[in-house]
Amino acid sequence: MRIAGQVQIDDIPKICPLVSRAVNTQYGEKGTRVVEVAGVRFGGERPVVIGGPCAVESHAQTVGLARAVKRAGADMLRGGAYKPRTSPHDFQGSGLEGLCILSIAREETDLPIVTEVMDPRLVGEVAQVADMLQVGSRNMHNYTLLAEVGRARKPILLKRGMSASLCEWLGAAEYIAKQGNLDIVLCERGIRGFPSGEYSRYVLDLNVIPAAKMLTFLPIVVDPSHATGVSAMVEPASRAALEMGSHGLLIEVADLAFGEPKCDGLQAIDAATLGRIVRFAHIRREESEARSPKAVEVGASRPGN
Ligand code: PEP
Ligand code: MN
Repeated sequence: MRIAGQVQIDDIPKICPLVSRAVNTQYGEKGTRVVEVAGVRFGGERPVVIGGPCAVESHAQTVGLARAVKRAGADMLRGGAYKPRTSPHDFQGSGLEGLCILSIAREETDLPIVTEVMDPRLVGEVAQVADMLQVGSRNMHNYTLLAEVGRARKPILLKRGMSASLCEWLGAAEYIAKQGNLDIVLCERGIRGFPSGEYSRYVLDLNVIPAAKMLTFLPIVVDPSHATGVSAMVEPASRAALEMGSHGLLIEVADLAFGEPKCDGLQAIDAATLGRIVRFAHIRREESEARSPKAVEVGASRPGN
C-alpha cells in the first residue's frame, strides 16, 4: 500500500539524489566525503572532537572554556550565540555580542568555530564569524533556513530533528545540497522515544550511523550531550558512538569557576573528561577500520511483535 507523503529508504536515490551514495557514485560503496573546516577534516583520518559551552554567556566564560578545550586536545570550539529555548522567557543567547566573543575566542586559541543560526535573515551575519554553521534539531525541517545556509558557502553541521526519520534528515541535507553546497556534516543528537525523559533526555540512536553511511557519503558525528542530558553518560556514550563508526563528537563543556551555566548545565562535562574522550578518539582511530561495523543491509531486520 502506498500512502501520500510517506518516504522510505528505497526512495532515497529519487528524493535525495545529490547526497545519495547510489546516485553520486564518486565515493564508491564506502568512501566518505571529507568536509574541511579551516583545516579540520570531518570524515578524514581521525575523528573530530568539538567542545565548548552550550551558550556563549560572557567573554571570560567562553575564552576560558576555549582555552580549556584547546588544552584538552579538541579540534573545534562550539557555543551558541542564538539559543532555541523551550520558553521565550529563558535566556535566548547573547546574539551579536556572543558572535564577537566567539571570534575573540578563535583568535586566542586558533580553534575553528561552529555556532547555530536559527533565523534565515541572520545567516549572513552569523556566517561572517562562524567557520561552520549549525542547523539545530528544531530547525531541521525549516526549509527556508536550509536553503539560505546552503547559499552561505560555509560548511554546515546539520543536526537531526528529534523526531526525524533518516529519510527526512537526508531530505533536509538535500535542501542544502540543492544550493550547490555539499559540505554537510550530519549530527545525531538523540531522538524522542517512549523512555525519553525517564532516565535520559533523548534516546541516542547509534544504529543510524551505519545506516546513514550506507545511504550517503556525508560524514556523520554524534552529540552525546543533548542525547543523554546527563553528564555522567557523556563519556561512555562518546566511546560507544566512536565504536559505531561516528566521524566525530560535539560535546558541551562547562567550568563552575565561571558560574552555573545558564542552560544545560546538567549535561556538561569538565575539561579533564573531554581530554580523556579526545585521547580515546585518537586511539580509536588507530583501530578504526578493523573494528567499525560493516555497512548493514538497511531494512533487512524488522522488529517482530
Ligand atoms: C545545541 O547544540 O546547542 C543545541 C541546541 O542542540 P539541539 O539543536 O540538538 O537541541
Ligand atoms: Mn545545550
